[in-house]
Amino acid sequence: MKFSNSYSQLDNVFYQRTSPAQVSRPQLLLWNQELADQLLLTEDFCRDKALLAQYFSGNRIPDGADPIAQAYAGHQFGSFNPQLGDGRAHLLGEVLGDNGLRYDIQLKGSGQTRFSRQGDGKCAIGPAVREYIMSEAMHALGVPSSRCLAVTATGDLVFRETAKPGAVVTRVAASHIRVGTFEYFAARGDLDSLETLTGFAINRHFPEIALNPDLDLSQRVLQFLNAVIDKQITLIVNWLRVGFIHGVMNTDNTAISGETIDFGPCAMMGIYHPGTVFSSIDTRGRYAFGNQAAIGQWNMARLAEALLPLIDEVPEKAVALAEPLIRQFGQDFELAHKLMLANKLGMPSLPASGSKSENSLGNDLLAQMQDQELDYTQTFTRLTLSLENPEQAEKLSHELGPWYGTWRALLADENITDDAAKSLMAQTNPQVIPRNHHVEAILAEYEQNGDSGEIEDFLTVLRTPYNLLPQTPKFQDLPADGDRHYRTFCGT
Ligand code: AMP
Ligand code: MG
Repeated sequence: MKFSNSYSQLDNVFYQRTSPAQVSRPQLLLWNQELADQLLLTEDFCRDKALLAQYFSGNRIPDGADPIAQAYAGHQFGSFNPQLGDGRAHLLGEVLGDNGLRYDIQLKGSGQTRFSRQGDGKCAIGPAVREYIMSEAMHALGVPSSRCLAVTATGDLVFRETAKPGAVVTRVAASHIRVGTFEYFAARGDLDSLETLTGFAINRHFPEIALNPDLDLSQRVLQFLNAVIDKQITLIVNWLRVGFIHGVMNTDNTAISGETIDFGPCAMMGIYHPGTVFSSIDTRGRYAFGNQAAIGQWNMARLAEALLPLIDEVPEKAVALAEPLIRQFGQDFELAHKLMLANKLGMPSLPASGSKSENSLGNDLLAQMQDQELDYTQTFTRLTLSLENPEQAEKLSHELGPWYGTWRALLADENITDDAAKSLMAQTNPQVIPRNHHVEAILAEYEQNGDSGEIEDFLTVLRTPYNLLPQTPKFQDLPADGDRHYRTFCGT
């Protein structure tokens, strides 16, 4: 494993240099060989599972790694906290992947740091396995996401409501720079560090901006903000496409890379309802399924605010330059969302004629799904199937009433063949998602036995979510209670 550690070469205001805690009996529970290959980890390195458990529990530091805990701030549920930071994570360093891009390798649950506040720095096995399952599922669904290389049991207990077995999860991300990282320096008035961070993030994520010699600082920062906004829009549209509810879209959990990070209270929506919330602490529904775009925009406004001093030293002028970008989020999101819904219904572009009924087709279906309490994923897979299966078409036409005929007529009007529609829909609408009841059943097994008989099948199925494997039907069933009693908790 060859580390390059560009973040730890920045000034030490960006992080605390600190080692992970020692654990008693490290044991490798989950290992992602496909990801290890993409990160160019050698066969030699990957061969010895006991040694991997030492490395990815934090007991041994791989050669060249330089562990740090990163500093950041963040708006949590709307309130600013100037001092968060990695309270239970250690960035080991960065490696170059087979695509030439740099990836952070971070341990989470690896012990206390200067940023731990009251926390124990640990992670229980359940949240660690949840992050592994959910991030792998998201990646396979085509949603930008951090990934997991490993889950290692520590052999130590972690004290939550009860004592639980502890684990360390190894997270891989394009970077761990967050909106909250910018807020950290902006709040301290440390403009030098803010500028350094912005330059670092531009080099890492948007080299095309860095390489443009014609831009002054203000222009570079505005282009950066715009590029981050575009990535957030793509991210959230993809969340809505597959029915993902992040659950804790605080600015410290919003990665500049546009990847999904932090899977603590996340969940999948079953029955369609924009107000769906599962997180026990989100009592007012701030992070409800249908609120995610508005919150994404709000988070981008916080990033813009943090960047203002780099845009212009006269605050009013800086605001005048940044504001249109934030406003544009709304329009761009709406367009991207419409197109995504059109794709889910087999249309490669928005209907050319754009009559009223055509434009509202997707939203009409959503309204009907909400009214009739239909499952989001299953409704779209049934619609896809109905294009080749007259019996399913008959059933849906009965269940959905006139909407069904309107949809089929519109496809015909647009000269979209059933085959073309079916193929687009099959790529856009997953056959299987990590349904909450299946995820929870597996986490419960891990908590009780440190293992699960189902995990391999579940991961295999989730890794090809657009194809039916022989094992897929085992994980397609709906929860008996429609998830009405389902609750999730932050990973703390
Ligand atoms: P999260 O809600 O997981 O995004 O975490 C918010 C903040 O709390 C971050 O600064 C975390 O590092 C910190 N944190 C969460 N859990 C723990 C823990 N068990 N020990 C120390 N810090 C934690
Ligand atoms: Mg977090």
